[in-house]
Amino acid sequence: MPKPSPPFRIGHGYDLHRLEPIAPDGPGRRFVLGGLAFEHDRGPVGHSDGAALLHAITDALLGALGEEDIGQLFPDTDPAHDGADSAIFIDAARRRVDEAGFEIGNLDATVILERPKIGPRKQELRLHLANLLGVDSDRVNLKGKTHEKVDAVGEGRAIEVHAVVLLLRREDPATG
Ligand code: MG
Repeated sequence: MPKPSPPFRIGHGYDLHRLEPIAPDGPGRRFVLGGLAFEHDRGPVGHSDGAALLHAITDALLGALGEEDIGQLFPDTDPAHDGADSAIFIDAARRRVDEAGFEIGNLDATVILERPKIGPRKQELRLHLANLLGVDSDRVNLKGKTHEKVDAVGEGRAIEVHAVVLLLRREDPATG
């Protein structure tokens, strides 16, 4: 008899996006983090809206399910994803979590970024992410760090994000 699968799954997601001067000075898109716009003279370069935080969270959700990653599911060669709002990736991952019979237990993410500072808007970001994920904000945690001026991230030329998510098997009254 097959062993029952565990009632929880953990997933990790990582993303890095290059930050470039914003048009017309360069190829950077508007600086958007987790769906919120920030004032900054640089922005991410990427096929979709370059939202590294949402990409890392999407990969954490997909990873917990043991599914293909964001790059495989939404290839950057597909023009449909050009400039796409990265919330669509979160939505797609959430749907898969739901279909697999799981719910989000909690999410913890670390954003590594020299500028802009996210500290003053951390609570706002937390609430926004919780909304996107359809969970209470006490299930979402966010940390901001700098890279101590070292390497590309420390020189403000990139943003890096790590995200860890725990999924819990949903208790459906119908199935006990
Ligand atoms: Mg990405």
